[in-house]
Amino acid sequence: MVIDAPAHSSVNHHSCPGTLCRCQCPVYFIDPSFGLLGHYRFANSNAADEVDQAFFLPKLCNRCERPACVQVCPAGATFRTPDGVVLVDRDYCIGCQYCIQACPYGARYLNSQLHVADECTWCYHRITRNMNPACVEVCPTGARIFGDLNDAESPISRFIRNHRVSVPKPEMGTRPRVFYFGLERNVK
Ligand code: SF4
Ligand code: SF4
Repeated sequence: MVIDAPAHSSVNHHSCPGTLCRCQCPVYFIDPSFGLLGHYRFANSNAADEVDQAFFLPKLCNRCERPACVQVCPAGATFRTPDGVVLVDRDYCIGCQYCIQACPYGARYLNSQLHVADECTWCYHRITRNMNPACVEVCPTGARIFGDLNDAESPISRFIRNHRVSVPKPEMGTRPRVFYFGLERNVK
């Protein structure tokens, strides 16, 4: 299963508004420290700098085939399901944050209420019931495609066949399974 989330430069492309999917994301609702509209997950350390070019990149857990987070977890709390989704078992997580350090994509964070690692789950509760993730469902521009790459005729397979897609930081060897269309080379 793959999500295609086209990356859009905040200058040239406007089909990804970058707001509605966050409003629907259950992870944002679980941890109110994220806030909703108007809040960013990470502090912008360059806010005072002069900016020549800026990019907006919707980020989520890439469900890597070789997930760094799983390799470093000392508690066995991070695991990969048989259908290839990387999840955290909160009952086993000791909150050491090794996985947060190890993930090259900043996909994980410490849940401030539960003191365990958390992340986008690709709405595992939905996709295992043959539903789309909430962000895919609500995206008003259809910027996200979710589907089964094993099915050659699925929309995601056709899209990847017909477009030049890429993954962030391929040099990390984690083999991300979220593919971007139009990913700017400068975006890491
Ligand atoms: S994106 Fe990060 S958290 Fe998600 S599977 Fe890959 S290494 Fe793990
Ligand atoms: S924070 Fe939890 S999931 Fe992450 S490495 Fe530590 S025990 Fe594993």
